[in-house]
Amino acid sequence: EIIIEIRNLSKIYSDGVDVYALDSINLEIHKGEFLAIVGPSGSGKSTLLHIIGILDTPTRGSIFIAGNDVSQMPDKDRSRIRNQVLGFVFQYHHLMPDFTALENVMMPLLIAGRTREEATRMANELLAEVGLEDRIDHRPTQLSGGQNQRVAVARALANSPAIVIGDEPTGNLDTKSSEKIYELIRRLNREHGQTFILVSHDEALARKADRVIHIVDGKIAE
Ligand code: ADP
Ligand code: ADP
Repeated sequence: EIIIEIRNLSKIYSDGVDVYALDSINLEIHKGEFLAIVGPSGSGKSTLLHIIGILDTPTRGSIFIAGNDVSQMPDKDRSRIRNQVLGFVFQYHHLMPDFTALENVMMPLLIAGRTREEATRMANELLAEVGLEDRIDHRPTQLSGGQNQRVAVARALANSPAIVIGDEPTGNLDTKSSEKIYELIRRLNREHGQTFILVSHDEALARKADRVIHIVDGKIAE
């Protein structure tokens, strides 16, 4: 079952001369797949991930996410699909500094309309899943880089998104913490069947993924 279908997709930045950040990309991503996107700096990885995350639009071509042609939609519908289908983990965790781990994970649940009681129960379960049951009342400054990234993963999973995307999700971590985050993501991917699409320079990611795509100069390299 295909969850993302990308057809002849290009992203062109025109700044006097045209720069093809992405050049006629074709890609099918299967439901439940753990996909790694690797490639040199400036090759187009972030651009591709941002288009998949409905944060950016292609110049040409199409992208279907869970059956919706998101390249041709009004902003309102794009953000609805983004909120229903996608979860994000970024290089820097973007946790709210004045809130505890529990409150950070509760936030998307409350925004989605859960009661306080439900959100508390679900956030507790998510934090236990990422191994932080004894850190729920800590704030980001009281947690290590790896622990904060675990909170960010728990938060990304809060509303059970079909697709989780990560842009250098372990970019700020040492090798050992990085490995642990990838192992965690691998386990969550197996247990929940969610689709994970991660961009990284880190070879540890490529070793954990089901499939690795190399991007060079805006094209998928064979
Ligand atoms: P990567 O994530 O692989 O480092 P990017 O997707 O960030 O690569 O960038 C791909 C190419 O597109 C680069 O040549 C970059 O300079 C260019 N680019 C990215 N964003 C912009 C932008 N907002 N305006 C102009 N050029 C951009
Ligand atoms: P950088 O590539 O500089 O490390 P990030 O990967 O953190 O930046 O973010 C990339 C882009 O995605 C930025 O334009 C940022 O505004 C946007 N962004 C980051 N987090 C979110 C989010 N949770 N929801 C929507 N957009 C986000």
